[in-house]
Amino acid sequence: MEKKTERIKAVMIGHAVGDALGVPVEFESRRKLEKHPVTDMMGYGTYHVPAGAWSDDTSMAVAALDSLADGAIHYREIMENFVKWLDGGRYTPTGHTFDVGGTCMRAIMNFTYDPKQNPTECGLSGDYSNGNGSLMRIHPFVMMTYFCEGLRGERDAVAENGSSLTHAHERSKLACKIYARILFALLDDPSKESVSTALAQANAAYTDSAEHETYARLFVSDFAQTKISDIRSSGYVVDTLEAAVWCLLTTETYGECVLKAVNLGEDTDTVAAIAGGLAGALYGYEAIPKKWREALLERQTIEAMCERAAQNWT
Ligand SMILES: [Mg+2]
Repeated sequence: MEKKTERIKAVMIGHAVGDALGVPVEFESRRKLEKHPVTDMMGYGTYHVPAGAWSDDTSMAVAALDSLADGAIHYREIMENFVKWLDGGRYTPTGHTFDVGGTCMRAIMNFTYDPKQNPTECGLSGDYSNGNGSLMRIHPFVMMTYFCEGLRGERDAVAENGSSLTHAHERSKLACKIYARILFALLDDPSKESVSTALAQANAAYTDSAEHETYARLFVSDFAQTKISDIRSSGYVVDTLEAAVWCLLTTETYGECVLKAVNLGEDTDTVAAIAGGLAGALYGYEAIPKKWREALLERQTIEAMCERAAQNWT
């Protein structure tokens, strides 16, 4: 098994590469991408950014990791980092923020710097605040609870709190908890069987959740056999989680997985980012094509944070 540093890098870079592959075609339809599929890193499509530029998904994950990598969870500091990203272009590959979801923006604007404010109460909790904006940046939180011995039992609580910084509805929190179980299982034993086992365990563990039924499709044992026409790749958290897991289960390599995710269309960057982080955990860092790793902007910045995390997460 890869060293801790390599495994953290596999997830963070796997996620960022998926994001960067999807950015130029975000919001494109599946029909158009079927005719003209993405096969490589490109620049200047939906946004005026060069090849290898990653978006809000990776920016918010890196903003969280920069704080978590010191070895303690300070939700207030993470919100401060989100403000630096949204207002100042920090944690971006190009120096400016070019993509932000409505729920994330409103939650960050709810943050007041008042020490009496609970930062996990910044998130929105309405039915219509269930985009994929917390799921797309939950992986550093999950990895920290995996690698820090003392936090192992806190996996669900940290996934919930991490989500609640921006997305506080039970549906978004449950998506993060299901994802956390999958990532834990892949870090323990990188195999597709681990994913199926994690989903079966999630099915049994969250029966009391009001949102358990929402994820019923994921919990059936033949979910991987779902037809592509029944897989939706929108920014709705349920669609995104299903699409990412489906891409992971129906492909054999990192590259095949993230390209399949991008070419589903619609929320291309986020579906590919989440699929890519999981595929990084499944196939390992070296399985992420070298040309894509090298094309990724600010890769060294992200990797330096992964190295700091590996030192401090014990
Ligand atoms: Mg994005």
